[in-house]
Amino acid sequence: MYAKVDHEVLEFLTGLFGKDRVLLDPDLLEMYAHDEVPGLKARPEVVVRATTVQQISKVMKFANEKRIPVTPRGAGYGLSGGAVPVCGGIVLSLEKMDRILEIDKKNLMITVEPGVITSKIHEAVEREGLFYPPDPASLDSCSIGGNVAECAGGPRAVKYGVTKDYVCGLEAVLPSGQVIQLGGKLVKNVTGYDLIGLLIGSEGTLAIITKIILRLIPLPRVTIDLLVAFNEFQGAADTVSAIIKRQILPTSIEFMEQDSLLACEKYLKKELPLREAAAFLLIKLDGNRKEDVEALCETVGEVCFEHDAIDVLVADDRPTQEKLWEARRAIIEALKERSPVNHMEDIVVPRARINDFLREIKKLQERYEYPIICFGHSGDGNVHVNILKEDYPEDKWKEIIPKISGEIFDIALALGGQITGEHGVGATRSKYLEKAVGPKILKLFRGIKQLFDPNNILNPGKILPD
Ligand SMILES: Cc1cc2nc3c(=O)[nH]c(=O)nc-3n(C[C@H](O)[C@H](O)[C@H](O)COP(=O)(O)OP(=O)(O)OC[C@H]3O[C@@H](n4cnc5c(N)ncnc54)[C@H](O)[C@@H]3O)c2cc1C
Repeated sequence: MYAKVDHEVLEFLTGLFGKDRVLLDPDLLEMYAHDEVPGLKARPEVVVRATTVQQISKVMKFANEKRIPVTPRGAGYGLSGGAVPVCGGIVLSLEKMDRILEIDKKNLMITVEPGVITSKIHEAVEREGLFYPPDPASLDSCSIGGNVAECAGGPRAVKYGVTKDYVCGLEAVLPSGQVIQLGGKLVKNVTGYDLIGLLIGSEGTLAIITKIILRLIPLPRVTIDLLVAFNEFQGAADTVSAIIKRQILPTSIEFMEQDSLLACEKYLKKELPLREAAAFLLIKLDGNRKEDVEALCETVGEVCFEHDAIDVLVADDRPTQEKLWEARRAIIEALKERSPVNHMEDIVVPRARINDFLREIKKLQERYEYPIICFGHSGDGNVHVNILKEDYPEDKWKEIIPKISGEIFDIALALGGQITGEHGVGATRSKYLEKAVGPKILKLFRGIKQLFDPNNILNPGKILPD
């Protein structure tokens, strides 16, 4: 169905990008064959590293005419196989388009290229006293283009929302090669259909994002973190609902089980506080006046103790805060160290149902007898469910994972939830999409894809099931 990358294609690509930016070395191609999903691999026929929107426009026009698949790639830190070229063809890397073009202090906007690493945006705007809140745990490695394509969230989403809440303008290249400009430095804009909203979270299947305008807000002056320990997960889950019910919106409420904390200790080679407890909440509070944040901190502490917290550690200095968040951000890597083969789901349920969800997962774990470790953004109802293979036999693992995933999705859907909160559908969850959204919505999705990409050359094999 698709054309292969042959001599003529390579000649075209070399002419357009220059020899140094067209990669054919098998070792290099291997690096672009995967993202962070364990075990999912597909080697591209060629990788090109773009530096201008004109190059991207030309390569898309060419690939569309020749019917060659193109997979856009940011930093390759995705968790749904979105950047894996499952149909072969060209991987179009945006990593070299990594310039911060402007910080506009009059309009509180930043304009960036898609390959900028997310933490670089944080650092640049914070130097100016400004704040870009979305903070995926991968922020030191992932790119802002990947964040927009996945609508990435992060711990601060409880109070500040996710990537889509900050994107005001986009430049993008359609599969035909046409370049479009959407929105601008506009806080409000309802002119026609919300195409910015459509491209955010479209996982590189509708267009390639080449420029992004993000809204900024003033940087909160004071932050306090609380690490709260519980003897059982139930207390931690109850506390999340109780905090929200008291109409308090902390910056973050992250949930971790003991197993994940211990794995982090081992991975980071550091002892972490309160390690004896069964479950933890990591709560961040922020504001502009110290006394306001301290008062909030006291109320939150009271709610925790009302729900059987056994200890609360208050971190109001930068080094202790960093230590706690370093551990939280390292969980995925730490679990990978404990079991290099593992499987992660990214469930979202209404926040008040977190409790019910975790209880059902415990039952699932007892039934299947696999270690299942939960952590995640409990303040958003977003739980990462990790099933570890460890020493279990390969054939049993392959047979059991689709069954466990299917059951996890059933539990989430029955609670009014969904199958992914922030990691995306990508290649790994597409076969569950119809179950998640139903045939009518799936038909609309297919219509949208057909309109943007009638030849299905842009990131085929993602989101929509075959
Ligand atoms: C340890 C770890 C922690 C993580 N924590 C979080 C978290 O807290 N919250 C969260 O939301 N995610 C998290 N993730 C997932 C991941 O980091 C995010 O999905 C991130 O947005 C991926 O960015 P990337 O640049 O690596 O994208 P890639 O993996 O390169 O690509 C992801 C998708 O975006 C598409 N894409 C990339 N760039 C563009 C572009 N310019 N135009 C069009 N499409 C494009 C790709 O085709 C692909 O479908 C985590 C991952 C890891 C490994």
